[in-house]
Amino acid sequence: MFPPSGRLIYVDTKGVYSSMALFITDECINCAVCVEECPNNAIFFGAQHYEIDPDRCTQCEGFFAKPQCQEVCPVDCILLIPPSSPS
Ligand code: SF4
Ligand code: SF4
Repeated sequence: MFPPSGRLIYVDTKGVYSSMALFITDECINCAVCVEECPNNAIFFGAQHYEIDPDRCTQCEGFFAKPQCQEVCPVDCILLIPPSSPS
């Protein structure tokens, strides 16, 4: 089965995963700059730092040419693909 057009895919150890959502790493310094930029209100404060709700994040499709949270993050801690889980 192919992912819907425009969706990004990556392959992990368990198979192919399809997602449009970005991911905030533990490097986040909780500056909150990204929160106001998100057109989908997808960014919220989680247990330790800001996180992205994968059900809301659309990579800014229909709003901006590039993910705005990535554009403004001062420490570049917003990634397209989650870091690999330790095996
Ligand atoms: S990529 Fe866009 S929609 Fe997704 S969290 Fe970042 S600002 Fe929000
Ligand atoms: S802009 Fe980057 S460092 Fe600041 S809260 Fe968002 S993810 Fe964290």
